[in-house]
Amino acid sequence: MLIARNVTKNYSNLEVLKGVDISVSKGEIVTIVGSSGAGKSTLLHILGTLDSPTGGEIRINDVLTKGLQGKKLADFRNRHIGFIFQFHHLLPEFSALENVCIPGFIAGARKNAVKERAVFLLETLGLKDRLDHRPNELSGGEQQRVAVARALINNPAVIMADEPTGNLDSHNARELHQLFLSLRDQFEQTFIIVTHNEELATLSDRQLVMKDGRIVGETGR
Ligand code: ADP
Ligand code: ADP
Repeated sequence: MLIARNVTKNYSNLEVLKGVDISVSKGEIVTIVGSSGAGKSTLLHILGTLDSPTGGEIRINDVLTKGLQGKKLADFRNRHIGFIFQFHHLLPEFSALENVCIPGFIAGARKNAVKERAVFLLETLGLKDRLDHRPNELSGGEQQRVAVARALINNPAVIMADEPTGNLDSHNARELHQLFLSLRDQFEQTFIIVTHNEELATLSDRQLVMKDGRIVGETGR
């Protein structure tokens, strides 16, 4: 599903990624762990096409991402990759339902189909009674679940999450983990997650340990 080969990234003369190879299968939850400054966020951004590598290549669903630019790249990203960050980045003026619909409208899908799927996702994530709430009317855990629904709206090949539980208390963090596991089990959803949360890391299918720009270890279940 996702294959990265010999990915490198330099910032002027700083080598942040020194040749990373990763292969992720459909329906797998892969976590990336390692100390601060190891290059985890940089790698996730590059895998998610938010940033380009200095060298190497990435294929997502057999598409070579370095062949994409401008509008084509933005379109590919919107359709095939979902993002979840530490902070939800929901638009404050829009309801939960509208926030979830927006990437679907941008992708050009039929309005009614997008709305139906958004309602389905929000209901699946336990937010049936929150459709018309704005982000500031929702709890932290609920806001993050709306962000998960938004990430899922275009049925992406992969969800990239950067410290998704970083801003949640342990109860809400645990619920978000359970949600990721059930999305994997129900829909074969693939995840790549950068996390400091050991519980999330141990629940994943595979943990990659990064150090100093390289993957130095891997543990599977
Ligand atoms: P991690 O997510 O593992 O904490 P990062 O990927 O954020 O690591 O950062 C890895 C290294 O790359 C750090 O030394 C950081 O200072 C450097 N770095 C990240 N982004 C930039 C940038 N835009 N310009 C220069 N250096 C950067
Ligand atoms: P959690 O246990 O998920 O942290 P909270 O105790 O923060 O939840 O909130 C409990 C309920 O109150 C939530 O379902 C949320 O929708 C609602 N709520 C929280 N903050 C607000 C707010 N500012 N305005 C309206 N409703 C809110």
